[in-house]
Amino acid sequence: MIDRRSSAPTGRRAQLRPGQHPRQIAEYRRQLRIRLTTIAMTLLAVLMIALVPLLERGDGNPTTEAQSAETSAEPHEQLDWSDTSALPPLDTDLDLTLHSTDDPSSIWAVVNKARPLTPIDWQPDDLDTVAVSVNGDGERMRRDAAAALHDMDAAAQRELGQGIQILSGFRSYQRQQALYGAYERRDGQAAADRYSSRPGHSEHQTGLACDIAETQPPCELCNEFAQSGLGTWLQQNSWRFGFVQRYETGQEQTTGYMEEAWHYRYVGVPLASWMRQHDVHTLEKVFGLPDAPDYTNP
Ligand SMILES: [Zn+2]
Repeated sequence: MIDRRSSAPTGRRAQLRPGQHPRQIAEYRRQLRIRLTTIAMTLLAVLMIALVPLLERGDGNPTTEAQSAETSAEPHEQLDWSDTSALPPLDTDLDLTLHSTDDPSSIWAVVNKARPLTPIDWQPDDLDTVAVSVNGDGERMRRDAAAALHDMDAAAQRELGQGIQILSGFRSYQRQQALYGAYERRDGQAAADRYSSRPGHSEHQTGLACDIAETQPPCELCNEFAQSGLGTWLQQNSWRFGFVQRYETGQEQTTGYMEEAWHYRYVGVPLASWMRQHDVHTLEKVFGLPDAPDYTNP
């Protein structure tokens, strides 16, 4: 007699035929148990192998998770964060004595109305013509700054759909002398001092500063630029390329200049991202230097 209950779970492989002995039935059941156990063990092993990499990805890399938290806190939804070179350094304890603020060849040189370049007619020896979307006058900047501006232009084209025009880069002592002289004759010294620099006091003389506009701007060197597509994008993204807006609104007492939405200064990515993370808006404040609202020698 066939015990259908015992044959029921055995499946197709161990079907019994009428007349089989109970010992054969027991043997079939034993072999079935072995097969089922083997199948279960194999499935378990496959699952383990598949799961291990997933588990490692989840908790094995604190750097990746910290970066994700960092970036998700920023209002940069439109950015391509797959470019990891653009992520801010996680170490925010930047050594602020790393570069000189006095040496005019330093990327952290601080030049303002109280801090002229020394020597006063200093000029860089590594000037490159800046390769951006529009550079009608062949403006030049120091090599690293020019390369960074080139990268920023490429990113603006990619992410914003429009590139950068450079209106002004390096200006020599002699060139600044001519410019300031013309402004002074036209508007008087007091007015000229609010929007232009006396020769030897211009950040443009370091080769690290530039005046930027859209490629087809409604106006040049105007603060409407701050609300333009490119102006807004730069405020959010210039740090990724080592640039900071040097003369922000409300900082005239410290920097000595009215807001200049178009004037950007190259300081390198570590300092630019540090300033953003620490919400510091002027180089004077970064380095604990005195406010420079006016020239010390009127
Ligand atoms: Zn400028």
